[in-house]
Amino acid sequence: MQLLNGTACSQQIRQEIALEVEAIVAAGKRPPHLAAVLVGDDGASQNYVGMKVRDCEEVGFGSTTVRMKASTTEAELLAKIDELNSNDAIDGFIVQLPLPSQINENNVILAIDPTKDVDGFCPENVGNLSLGLPTFVSATPNGIIELLRRYEIETEGKHCVVLGRSNIVGTPIAVLMSRNTNPGNATVTLAHSRTKNLKKLCASADILIVAIGRTEFVTADMVKDGAVVFDVGQTRVSDNTRKSGFRNVGDVDFEQVKDKCSYITFVTGGVGPMTRASLLQNTLKAYQRR
Ligand code: NAP
Repeated sequence: MQLLNGTACSQQIRQEIALEVEAIVAAGKRPPHLAAVLVGDDGASQNYVGMKVRDCEEVGFGSTTVRMKASTTEAELLAKIDELNSNDAIDGFIVQLPLPSQINENNVILAIDPTKDVDGFCPENVGNLSLGLPTFVSATPNGIIELLRRYEIETEGKHCVVLGRSNIVGTPIAVLMSRNTNPGNATVTLAHSRTKNLKKLCASADILIVAIGRTEFVTADMVKDGAVVFDVGQTRVSDNTRKSGFRNVGDVDFEQVKDKCSYITFVTGGVGPMTRASLLQNTLKAYQRR
């Protein structure tokens, strides 16, 4: 078994980006700038945005965090998005999800200028992804593809089972894995909560990508010998032995499964850091396009 080390890989990507930023600044231009909108005071969201800001600092990007109170109305948030859309100093921005219940997430996603949509959630970017046109690939699927590419894992002709059909992970990674590209060219099955014979299906996968948010759902009997397993799941469970009081648990029972795999990611040093690095890649791309 080889661990797919997302921490090391993302560090490499950050170094590559930092070098590009150095060259940009040396040429007398301003560095790329990412903004993050944080509505409310959800602990996990604050944590994610904090990490994204630290990542920006590390590679030399400018960053802005827009904090809005939990009672923010949809109209107030849409007005803020309008401002960010027309602010020339900002190359890309994200609105951290989930949003408070009074705000319709779809309306927010639709309001973001696709050229600044570095999360890749807007219809135009999702459509371009489906058509194989230049786009911002959403961060987690992009991170998985980068790991496959950097570890030179063969995907052509393999059976890839994607567990979970969310718009931000399961559906786009299923599209990317099935495209006529490398990595890609896999035969993909997209499974979800209504899928029958899930255990058998997962056990037939050469590549298993799990994004369902159910702790340690995938057990050894669901994994084929020699499979490549990506554990996207990240569920906070309380843990009094940690200073933070919690730890993140994946969707795969790592201890049970690891010895059956040829490659496997570990929560949180696998897909998570790659997701963050992908956001930086998209921000650099947004800057270069403008
Ligand atoms: P999501 O919106 O939470 O949806 C969950 C998906 O899993 C749905 O498609 C659901 O099926 C399916 N599902 C739930 N229970 C299932 C079961 N017992 N059997 C089969 N399918 C089941 O998905 P998400 O936003 O992609 O998040 C999934 C997990 O990934 C969460 O833990 C999240 O925190 C994590 N995540 C991590 C990163 C990272 O950077 N590491 C990024 C994004 C998300 P239905 O559609 O039928 O309901």
